[in-house]
Amino acid sequence: MSVRERVLDLLFPPKCPFCQKILDNPRAPVCPVCQPELPWLEGKAAERRVDFANSCFSPLAYRDMVPGAVHRYKFSRVRALGRPFAALMAQCLEDHLPQRAGLICWAPLSRERLRERGFDQAELMAREVGRLLSIPAGPALKKVRDTSPQSELEEESARRANARGAYAALPGLDLTGRRVVLVDDVVTSGSTLSECAALLRQEGAEEIWCLTLAQARHG
Ligand SMILES: [Zn+2]
Repeated sequence: MSVRERVLDLLFPPKCPFCQKILDNPRAPVCPVCQPELPWLEGKAAERRVDFANSCFSPLAYRDMVPGAVHRYKFSRVRALGRPFAALMAQCLEDHLPQRAGLICWAPLSRERLRERGFDQAELMAREVGRLLSIPAGPALKKVRDTSPQSELEEESARRANARGAYAALPGLDLTGRRVVLVDDVVTSGSTLSECAALLRQEGAEEIWCLTLAQARHG
């Protein structure tokens, strides 16, 4: 742990992202009370099919304490929550993907939304997963069109139309033959991730593995 991290831990002691109690063990991502209560996804249940991607892994189902914690992370500017979430995601990736990935990227926010929120939660999680697993993390995509929040759209067709054409690959990106991990916070219909995965494929990515904190029931 760096000096900076140690100072931050003193100023802002790590809290459980689900119940917000200060953690006795600051290195544990979740408190021992929430740990057994969380809707963990095991084995095949942790996988979701996403078009253009090899698969999508998520450690948690999007229910019980999870939606509240994700919402707090997104809207309260509590960046520190990204760390425990990323720890859960890194563990999930290790459990499900035996091969090492060459790059971790994320489904980015639009510039406007980034200005509103102050940070890109998916980027923070992707960078932290990369740090934990020693995989390089970096931007691959940009958002070129603002979309309605997917969570406000019920129909799968509406979600797909909302995501279509909303992203573009960064200029100069060459993913030829690479194994890429694509991070987002929650997967529901998978239309955002499949839109992004299609672009990564176009740039030559050979394998694309999506990774989200939570998987929402869909359909
Ligand atoms: Zn807790």
